[in-house]
Amino acid sequence: MSVLLNEAKAMQDKLSWFRREIHKKPEVGMDLPITTAFVKEQLEKHGLKVDQIIDCGLSVLIEGGKPGKTILLRADMDALPLAEESGEEFASEFEGKSHGCGHDMHAASLIGTAILLDKHKDQIHGRVKLMWQPGEETFEGMKAMIAAGIMENPSLDAALDLHVDASSPVGVLNFSKGPFTTSADNYLMKIKGSGCHGSMPENSIDPLNVAVQIYNAIASMRFREIKSSEFLAMSICSISSGSSFNIIPDSVEMRGTMRTYNPAIRDYVVGRLEQITKEVSSLFRAEGSLEIVSSAPTISNDPEMVDKVLGYLEDFGMDFERDPSFRLPASDDFGYVARTVPSVMFFIGCKPDGLEKNLLHNPKVVFDERALPIASALMAHCAMKWLEEHA
Ligand SMILES: [Zn+2]
Ligand SMILES: [Zn+2]
Repeated sequence: MSVLLNEAKAMQDKLSWFRREIHKKPEVGMDLPITTAFVKEQLEKHGLKVDQIIDCGLSVLIEGGKPGKTILLRADMDALPLAEESGEEFASEFEGKSHGCGHDMHAASLIGTAILLDKHKDQIHGRVKLMWQPGEETFEGMKAMIAAGIMENPSLDAALDLHVDASSPVGVLNFSKGPFTTSADNYLMKIKGSGCHGSMPENSIDPLNVAVQIYNAIASMRFREIKSSEFLAMSICSISSGSSFNIIPDSVEMRGTMRTYNPAIRDYVVGRLEQITKEVSSLFRAEGSLEIVSSAPTISNDPEMVDKVLGYLEDFGMDFERDPSFRLPASDDFGYVARTVPSVMFFIGCKPDGLEKNLLHNPKVVFDERALPIASALMAHCAMKWLEEHA
């Protein structure tokens, strides 16, 4: 077993304690004062200098003993607006909030990575910048960290990120070459018509009729204009309007999400969504507008860096089970970093033994904490190896 993995395993109890303390007090979005204070306190207790670069976003810079480049390691810390039903003794103490995406695992394991790297800093070529961000689920956090300068002083040469995989057991590690997660665009369509009595539709500009035409036009566009072999999820998830049997409403709001691995398709579809909303509305005498409310770019794992990481795993001290074709039809705002510097995102197994079904974003999801030291050591090992190779 490698030195790092051995040292990380010796920290199992400490890492589990970090994770459980964060887990008990889940906070959502950009406002994570308790979580941020806890992570900062633990890092400082271990002698690390912490920069609070935004209200609820932290970074630590480990200066190596030898010259070299800079690599970023990222963790998110935000929870979900989801009531927990895990049955764990350290379950959420906050009503309607829980760590159902496992970001408590990320935040805790990266504290472990910082401790390991600090211990071995004399052997590090260059620098490792570690970051803990809020607002991943809302796609706001990484943008805020970038605006506050996380990618500068020193500027980044590469980045690594890790997400827990609740559906695979400990010992599984996935990261495909090239596109790995989809982009996400969450959109809001507003259709303004003119309401009246339901018995006299000729006096209305019925926005519900327009909404149905737009809905169908989007489905036709997906199947007639995009290759069927391309992954493209185009879901309208909310249509809100009206409240009565006999009143045609004035307006409709439709909310939906679009996911694809292909940035060219993303750009094409956003353009078409805007055109369809406006022109179909206008065809039926209404006014339509489209707003992209939040988005995240696709994460494309740098092919050359993936090959390097595969080499680094050989002396990590664990034989991971891997599916090289694995892709994740979900999104993560780490994409804002991955589109700028060579990056790799890992998906690391943490399904407890004996469980058949265990899903992220599900109120019953549970995580095997044996994944914590593996995650801590994996990030430290790959960062040190990459820096050594690129010194
Ligand atoms: Zn999530
Ligand atoms: Zn997540």
